[in-house]
Amino acid sequence: MENERLKEIYESVKKRNPLESEFLQAVSEVFTSLIVVAEKYPMYARAAIFERLVEPDRMIMFRVPWMDDMGNIRVNRGYRVQFNNAIGPYKGGLRFHPMVNLSVMKALGFEQTFKNSLSGLPIGGAKGGSDFDPKGKSEGEVMRFCQSFMTELFKYVGPDEDVPAGDQGVGAREIGYLFGQYKRLTGQFHGVLTGKGIPYSGSLARTEATGYGLIYFVREMLKSIDETLYGKTAVISGSGNVAIYAAVKATALGACVVAMSDSGGYIYDEQGIDTDTIRLIKEKQRGRISEYIKYRPKAKYFEGSAGIWGLKCDLAMPCATQNELNAESAAKLIENGCRLIAEGSNMSCTQDAIALIKKAGLLYSPGKASNAGGVSVSALEMTQNSMRYSWSFEEVDAKLEEIMKGIYKKATAAAKEFGRATDLEFGANVAAFIKVADAMMAQGCV
Ligand code: NDP
Repeated sequence: MENERLKEIYESVKKRNPLESEFLQAVSEVFTSLIVVAEKYPMYARAAIFERLVEPDRMIMFRVPWMDDMGNIRVNRGYRVQFNNAIGPYKGGLRFHPMVNLSVMKALGFEQTFKNSLSGLPIGGAKGGSDFDPKGKSEGEVMRFCQSFMTELFKYVGPDEDVPAGDQGVGAREIGYLFGQYKRLTGQFHGVLTGKGIPYSGSLARTEATGYGLIYFVREMLKSIDETLYGKTAVISGSGNVAIYAAVKATALGACVVAMSDSGGYIYDEQGIDTDTIRLIKEKQRGRISEYIKYRPKAKYFEGSAGIWGLKCDLAMPCATQNELNAESAAKLIENGCRLIAEGSNMSCTQDAIALIKKAGLLYSPGKASNAGGVSVSALEMTQNSMRYSWSFEEVDAKLEEIMKGIYKKATAAAKEFGRATDLEFGANVAAFIKVADAMMAQGCV
């Protein structure tokens, strides 16, 4: 980092959070883009915006005791990191996964602040979750866990304060249990969570939003080189919410998605993956992706998920988890002629992978820009809840498309202002930062 002031701040963040590698990675990635902003606009440094931005507003950690089906009492740890509410109420998902820790929560909360800023909607940044693993748990265990989690969390959230959503391990089922418990504790029926079921004030198109939004964004990226998705070969990692709807929309727009994965391995279907079969296995049966070859015998299954990046493709979309695409995988994609990498998961690529991708001249988009469709439709769910009204699927989808185009425009314009027209990562960081920083400046020393 060349700017002395930012370097100093980053060193102090390292000292104060020595074991938080994910958080440090997120801060370093954003600060690298902000060097030129700090130089062009010294007012931000004078107002200590950088120091304030890397310190969450508050971090809530709590015990989550629950009883398993055998009558044993189990204990997990719950988190809510309310990172920044300069532009609106805190907003960000809840993740239930054994790898959840404070560093991951802070990294994702920090990223969320920028992503939400880019969406153009009035939402601040937060993230939360638990090291609870819903895999292999019964319905009753998941419900009791969610009820215990909300019994503590409800003190800190509210429709104008903090509005959590789902993330890995937290889908419609978990949101339903969390919402039910919140309602029971407060006696209030309002939009305290998003990703709710349609019968109880959820938004149409929320399920599809992140995956569809990713593809709308990729379409804008391809437009910049006068190309379309039609006829392109795509590889999409993961087979959860983001991956499935990215595959559905990419297929609808004429791309051929040849591979998808889960944490066990990946499938390759030269004819193009049948997304209905993936939805059946993953959404209905909660099964493993290896089962796909039972339905499509010409497809192949390979153990180990990282191998997916060794496949030849035009477009690669990591949609599974953070740091899933490293430099070795990036090198293989480049060697095999891949032309575009767009992140569907948060912080999908490691920093050395991003450096390689950019050096090779591929089109690249960071998750905070290309996966912002999910949180954007969550914000539209908040709007509908406040209005006590519901928009049709088509209305929400049309707004989503406009929002994704808007994000692309903002990132490109900011990149151009600093003479780095094709660098979407840089442009996204700069555009997002300036909006949050200006809001913080306007609100004084808070
Ligand atoms: P899900 O839990 O629905 O799905 C995650 C998928 O990724 C599963 O198929 C999982 O497989 C797979 N997976 C996990 N680890 C690996 C790995 N190392 N290699 C290959 N596959 C893996 O999560 P979502 O689809 O909701 O979210 C995916 C990512 O996108 C996360 O980073 C999330 O934060 C981000 N995101 C999600 C949004 C949303 O609206 N859902 C919005 C914005 C970002 P398995 O079943 O074996 O674990």
